[in-house]
Amino acid sequence: MLEVTNLCAGYGKTQVLERLNFHVEAGEVVTLIGANGAGKTTTLKTLCGILKATEGRVAFEGRELTRLRSYEIVDAGITMIPEGRQLFPNFTVRDNLIMGTYKRAARTGVQQRMDAVLERFPRVRERLGQLAGSLSGGEQQMVAIARGLMAQPRLLVFDEPSVGLSPLLVEQMFEIIRQIAADGVTVLLVEQNVFQTLQLVDRGYVLENGRIVLEGSGPDLLADPHVKRAYLGH
Ligand code: ATP
Repeated sequence: MLEVTNLCAGYGKTQVLERLNFHVEAGEVVTLIGANGAGKTTTLKTLCGILKATEGRVAFEGRELTRLRSYEIVDAGITMIPEGRQLFPNFTVRDNLIMGTYKRAARTGVQQRMDAVLERFPRVRERLGQLAGSLSGGEQQMVAIARGLMAQPRLLVFDEPSVGLSPLLVEQMFEIIRQIAADGVTVLLVEQNVFQTLQLVDRGYVLENGRIVLEGSGPDLLADPHVKRAYLGH
């Protein structure tokens, strides 16, 4: 479904991604794990057209995305839930959700779409009329995920969704990702909770210094000595 080939990207003269290769099949939940600064966010930003690739190729469902703009990539079926939620704090929750229908095809039937998405997020439904900035961190994260779903993505990309959440909310967030995947949405996940993430995913890649150094199933990576030492603290 997603095929990343020899992807290079960076900031100005600083190259961060050094010929990255990975793929995500339809229906999978896949993670990229790596230390701070390894290039995880840079990878996600490049996939979503926020950063331009300097070399290499991103293909989604057989279509080349590398030169598309970010809104065209949303239209193609990929939505990112960015780190830090990035809601519009002075807009209501409802308006934040409607902004998720930025994708052209999602603009029709906005109300039905919102009703369907909110079935999973009863707390968000209760707060539709409130300003997004007045919500707790956990509620804001749920709004960010709901907004992402409003675009009807086939691939949903999460960047550190559990940052700033309490352990209980982290559990809930993982459960929501599990349910979204069970509904048939393919998921690419970057997460600091490596142990929980590897228990959830089908496959993962380890990213170090802008390169993939290891690939495996969730259980294989959980048992891998390098992963244990570097990312699981034992
Ligand atoms: P983290 O968990 O810290 O977010 P990451 O794996 O997502 O780590 P990136 O954010 O992709 O890492 O950063 C990779 C490298 O790019 C780092 O060396 C970082 O300092 C650098 N970098 C990130 N954003 C910028 C920017 N806007 N301008 C210049 N350099 C940047």
